[in-house]
Amino acid sequence: MSFSHTTRVFVRTFQHRNASNVAFIGLGQMGARMVKNLVSKGEKVKVFDVVPQAASSVQGVTICNSPEEAAKDACFVFTMLPNGHIVKDTLLGDKGIMKGISNNALFIDSSTIEPQQSQELGKIAKENGFRFLDAPVSGGVTGAEAGTLTFMVGGEDKDAEEVKPVLLKMGKNVFKCGGTGTGQIAKLCNNLILAITMIGTCESLNMGVKLGMDPKLLTSIINVSTGRSWSSDTYNPVPGVMPNVPSSNQYKGGFGVSLIAKDLALAENAALSAGAPLPLGAISHQLYRTLIANGYSDKDFAVVYEFLQGKK
Ligand code: NAD
Repeated sequence: MSFSHTTRVFVRTFQHRNASNVAFIGLGQMGARMVKNLVSKGEKVKVFDVVPQAASSVQGVTICNSPEEAAKDACFVFTMLPNGHIVKDTLLGDKGIMKGISNNALFIDSSTIEPQQSQELGKIAKENGFRFLDAPVSGGVTGAEAGTLTFMVGGEDKDAEEVKPVLLKMGKNVFKCGGTGTGQIAKLCNNLILAITMIGTCESLNMGVKLGMDPKLLTSIINVSTGRSWSSDTYNPVPGVMPNVPSSNQYKGGFGVSLIAKDLALAENAALSAGAPLPLGAISHQLYRTLIANGYSDKDFAVVYEFLQGKK
């Protein structure tokens, strides 16, 4: 059978599926919730995580022993991993995705990584007969849980269209940004604002509380005033102001300080290459790095509030 015929058969099979074969690698704070939505909306999902408890945290999936095993026969192979080096290892390593992935299958990386690393992954995919999209997300664990994430997609338009129905099982917005790596550019721009507004919200609420304001009342005022942001109205950093957010659970889970610091480092590199100054981004980066040096690495990034309180 010629390659082109194989490809045609493969594409036809993909188009006629109801549930696609999805592989998902990295079931942490985000990945586990994304997979839960895929499964509840009818997708057949094979998963792999280096931490066995993470892989077994979601019901109704097939647990695999390697990325290679998960990728075998999958139409769509997702990664949701801490950084670009891990994504690359997961692709190229011993028993990596590349050993198992089918010809012409789509590899979709939803981790936040450097745009150039995404371009490198896209090149590897092209040279090895499969396709690649960068599709980082925004919305945090609350968005992942509710299936309301925003996907920012870089790569070929037709590939983005093909996977869109699957993305919409995990999110409610899918933006095609441009060529490979542009999803990551959009994501870094967003997270630059997020990192800064979280610090601003923590500074403001800490000052208000120290001056005697009730944090719930102060939050209610801010949320209908010009200081409002996602950090104040959806992910408030003061314990007890909102239920079901990491600040009300000792800053456990959520978006780790180490991850927002990573995103700011990526944004600084990207900004340097473009000659764009990032004065507040640089200060924010150093504040999160100071938190890491003080043992807050694995806490949710809203822990800036506790740090500014000066209790530890
Ligand atoms: P996390 O640390 O909670 O989860 C990462 C998972 O990857 C863990 O379960 C870990 O065991 C697994 N893992 C690590 N190395 C692995 C490997 N070699 N093979 C297989 N599994 C491996 O991280 P997260 O908060 O879920 O974030 C994942 C990605 O999404 C990051 O790139 C982050 O920047 C991005 N992101 C996070 C949030 C958030 O709010 N947490 C929001 C948007 C984007």
